[in-house]
Amino acid sequence: MGKLLGYTALIVLTALIAVGCFLGYILLEGSPPEMEVVSVPETVGREYILTVKVKDARSGIRSISAVLSQDDMVFELDPKIYEIKEWWRGSGVRDETVFWVIKPFELGMAEGKALLRITARDSSWRNDLKGNKQIREIEVLIDIVPPRIAVKSTVHNIRTGGTGLVSYRVSELPSKTGVWIDERFFPGYPKPGGAEDMYVAMVAVPFNVNKPKKMLIEAVDQAGNVARTGFPHRILRRPPKVDKINVTDRFLEQKMPDFMARYPELKGSPLEVFLEVNRELRRRNNQEIENYCKESAPEILWHGSFVCLPNSAFKAGFGDERHYFYKGKEIGLSYHMGSDLASISHAPVPAGNAGLVVFAGYLGIYGNTVILDHGLGLFSMYSHLSEIQVSAGDKVKRGDTIGITGMTGLAGGDHLHFGMMVHGVFVNPLEWWDQKWIQDHILNNLSVQ
Ligand SMILES: [Zn+2]
Repeated sequence: MGKLLGYTALIVLTALIAVGCFLGYILLEGSPPEMEVVSVPETVGREYILTVKVKDARSGIRSISAVLSQDDMVFELDPKIYEIKEWWRGSGVRDETVFWVIKPFELGMAEGKALLRITARDSSWRNDLKGNKQIREIEVLIDIVPPRIAVKSTVHNIRTGGTGLVSYRVSELPSKTGVWIDERFFPGYPKPGGAEDMYVAMVAVPFNVNKPKKMLIEAVDQAGNVARTGFPHRILRRPPKVDKINVTDRFLEQKMPDFMARYPELKGSPLEVFLEVNRELRRRNNQEIENYCKESAPEILWHGSFVCLPNSAFKAGFGDERHYFYKGKEIGLSYHMGSDLASISHAPVPAGNAGLVVFAGYLGIYGNTVILDHGLGLFSMYSHLSEIQVSAGDKVKRGDTIGITGMTGLAGGDHLHFGMMVHGVFVNPLEWWDQKWIQDHILNNLSVQ
């Protein structure tokens, strides 16, 4: 009997110790919650989403709170409080991600330094039942004023299908800046060799846009405050030249088999293949060209006017509206996005100006093509080549031979198709062959202080 009592007492005691240990482990634990601030803010703009991850493996999270203080003012963000449902097991919340939308302007904060203090507490009974706490303090900069933009360049008379250059100052280091022309963004670059706050953006008005609805300089600061401003401009309309092109059976028989061999998806009669090539492949190739023009050197690689194919005749111009006829019937329409120059057959092709080869290879309707980057978003392309004499990554000087003319792609005869692009938008090369135009529209705008 006495033995039995002894055993029972031992079991009860063991159980009590176990429960005590368990409660002690949970309720009297001394380790503070772990805290991680996801993307620590250096600057806080008009709106900042503060994300905080908190973990507490034992007693669970009791509360997460944050305050912003500036001078003697304290701005409390809505605290997150976790209910303790059963006293013996804490809040039960062991892993939590919370976020606050901080709007300093609405809180009435001022531009300048502030201290962000985030506190997390657990459900432990320690510290007079207030729990263990973890504190993180971060010095932040409240930035709610958008940058100031000052336009410095003055001449912005841009032809449709032509180029322009805008110089401007931005009062604080932007995270993004450039010029919007309708839905196209032309990135601004720190002005090469210029003052720290000077930016230049090479822009283009697409050939088929008569009057852009939106022409704005934009600067976004590190805190995300956006400034936009217009600039004086004049858009000069260029009347399109209309051309008629007869598609002959001879041309189709000569050119289409090569396209069919390269693109197995092209099926049907030579005429059907031509229609697909002229429409769909042209669109695809132009998209590819735009992609090659996405990244440009942040400096001016060119100097002086662009070199033309020597001793050549001008065969077709930029923006020409080409109506295609087959056996007297109109079958299609395309726009010519460059200038055609013809010299003798297999003439050496000079690089229009100094630059970097970004593409050298076969490019559908353009045949064998070289694309050069001249910096700040300006590119030139050389097409229908019979031979390519450079490779992607090569540096070339003005006038260096980069290939030999030919009639690859959709060319009916030996000629050079010379194209120019500004951030992937085709522009009229005529302007870049004209030293006076370059001086008046580009260099003068570049030299402003
Ligand atoms: Zn052409």
